[in-house]
Amino acid sequence: MHGEDYSLDKSRELENIEKVLKQLTSSPLYAYRVENGFHSVPGEGNPDAKILFIGEAPGKNEAESGRPFVGRAGKDLDSLLQANGLNRDDVFITNIVKDRPPANRAPTRAEIMLYAPILIRQIKIIQPKIIATLGRFSMEFILSHFDLPEKREKIGALHGRPMKVVASFGPLIVFPLYHPAAIFYNRKLEPELAEDFRKLVALVSMP
Ligand code: URA
Repeated sequence: MHGEDYSLDKSRELENIEKVLKQLTSSPLYAYRVENGFHSVPGEGNPDAKILFIGEAPGKNEAESGRPFVGRAGKDLDSLLQANGLNRDDVFITNIVKDRPPANRAPTRAEIMLYAPILIRQIKIIQPKIIATLGRFSMEFILSHFDLPEKREKIGALHGRPMKVVASFGPLIVFPLYHPAAIFYNRKLEPELAEDFRKLVALVSMP
């Protein structure tokens, strides 16, 4: 199939996901979304991206705009991308949970499992070369999903370590990163996150 047509197909399939999400009344977060005039946050970026970033869940700014990582953590993510010659149009950015949990609490296991099939569908549509997880929740989910031997290890041990898996569409690298918000609480993580980003971008240019 012609490359452009293929991208169109991907865009169409990603749009279908947006429609499913809008009407996801079975989500425990649906009523909270509607009551507050929030939006679901499907994710955005290049459907042909080599790197797919997966965060945790939308915060207030994201739920208000319907876009991922537009608040404070998003500014840091943008800077890290730019420092490595990339911008948002080069990558795809989403979250494991696509609606804002009340008061920015961590997503529950039930919420993660409810949104998981949507994330897995996005992965299959985009077919990235690298899945870069942002934070512990998406790391744990992705390592378990691909049944990696490291699945019980902590982010402190695994961040910046590329792990090879074989997805249904071909080989893939899982690359855990600290969540950009983690550096607000622990500035010592900042150089490590910056170094991990450099490693990540170097991986993309490998054949
Ligand atoms: N934190 C996340 O994990 N995702 C967002 O979209 C914003 C902040």
